[in-house]
Amino acid sequence: MSENAVKVLYRLKNAGYEAYLVGGGVRDLLLGREPKDFDIATNAHPEEVKKVFRNCRLIGRRFRLAHVHFGREIIEVATFRSMQEPGEEGDRETENGMLLRDNVYGTIEEDALRRDFTVNALYYNIEDFSVVDYTGGMADLEQGVLRLLGDPETRYREDPVRMLRAARFAAKLGFRINEACEAPIFELSDLLQSVPAARLFDEVLKLFMGGVALESFEKLRHYNLFGQLFPETEEALAHEEHEFPITFVTRGMQNTDTRVHEGKPVTPAFLFAVLLWEPVRQLADEFRLGGESPLQAMQQAGSEIVFRQAQRISLPKRFSIPMREIWNLQHRFEFRTGKRPHRLLAHPRFRAAYDFLLLRAESGEADQELADWWTRFQELEGDERNKMAKSPKGEGDGRRRRRRRRRKPKTKQPEAD
Ligand code: ATP
Ligand code: MG
Repeated sequence: MSENAVKVLYRLKNAGYEAYLVGGGVRDLLLGREPKDFDIATNAHPEEVKKVFRNCRLIGRRFRLAHVHFGREIIEVATFRSMQEPGEEGDRETENGMLLRDNVYGTIEEDALRRDFTVNALYYNIEDFSVVDYTGGMADLEQGVLRLLGDPETRYREDPVRMLRAARFAAKLGFRINEACEAPIFELSDLLQSVPAARLFDEVLKLFMGGVALESFEKLRHYNLFGQLFPETEEALAHEEHEFPITFVTRGMQNTDTRVHEGKPVTPAFLFAVLLWEPVRQLADEFRLGGESPLQAMQQAGSEIVFRQAQRISLPKRFSIPMREIWNLQHRFEFRTGKRPHRLLAHPRFRAAYDFLLLRAESGEADQELADWWTRFQELEGDERNKMAKSPKGEGDGRRRRRRRRRKPKTKQPEAD
């Protein structure tokens, strides 16, 4: 267990409070997996927690939480909450059965019952090193079952994100979702539309950046959840499925997982570039047929799809800008003579755009020969590289069009920045 989590547990205990490790931390440790983060539950109220730690900040509106900071690690400390009717006005707010605010403190048993799945409601007690189980979580953990606490439909209506969490834990842990909890998902998936776009962004990152992106993608599609998150992509895929398998996205997901397992960085920009490529590409094709230049077509398609997607999931500008650069650079790979390939190679986004090209080639959407050319071009040194850019060999159709244009007196082609 994280040393800092242990410190927090002991500090609370020594200050006279109850303190438990709870949630994914306990679940993952019991499964012999490395927890992603460590959450602590206590009977101390947030203000009391703050008094115990100097390095502590209170955050959150929906849930009031204490964050104890240790350099880059944050240990989250939450006060036991109850599902009882609120004693005071304003402690709990709901809208059409959805919980908006939830700050009613309770006992540990009440706290257990308001969690999502039984396997997430196990408490490790620092007082006597025991695991406290009020909901049958241990048995479900042993059997690999995800079971919601309470009535599934009510719990999904309270918080539709629980449907995404079901799919995510099923993918991550290889557990199966208990039947009664599985059935309502198909009918309730459109409740996700009422979830704030910023929260969905966080959930999408958890789904696709945790090393089980492919499993998650398949589970989401199976439960009709993917289309709620990425309606344009879902439509583009459904459109294509009859003709050829949805290789591009699945390759992209596999690739992301491999990178995560190798400890290489994955960025939300690349991830979203992959997830939204199919609709962007299809729309760009339409614009191209309508007479736009490749770059203009891509830029317009990018704007349009980003705009539509933002209705569901908010993608911060620091990711959407590089994502669009990755798209806009794709057509420049076709130009392989003269100064242009050298300029593309020097572009700050070259590496991401090239990785993206490889994916396109792997799924048969771009020429493998083109991808190989760029692989070689990068590996070579100065003179050899110049030689490659001099030979017109293997130039595609786009190239010929471009040449014709070039013979005219210098009109400058717009370029991706
Ligand atoms: P991981 O951190 O591996 O993604 P986790 O189970 O720890 O999984 P967190 O989002 O860190 O998930 O949440 C910690 C705990 O808080 C959960 O285990 C669960 O008990 C509770 N919890 C989180 N989200 C919800 C929710 N939407 N509804 C009810 N309980 C929740
Ligand atoms: Mg966690």
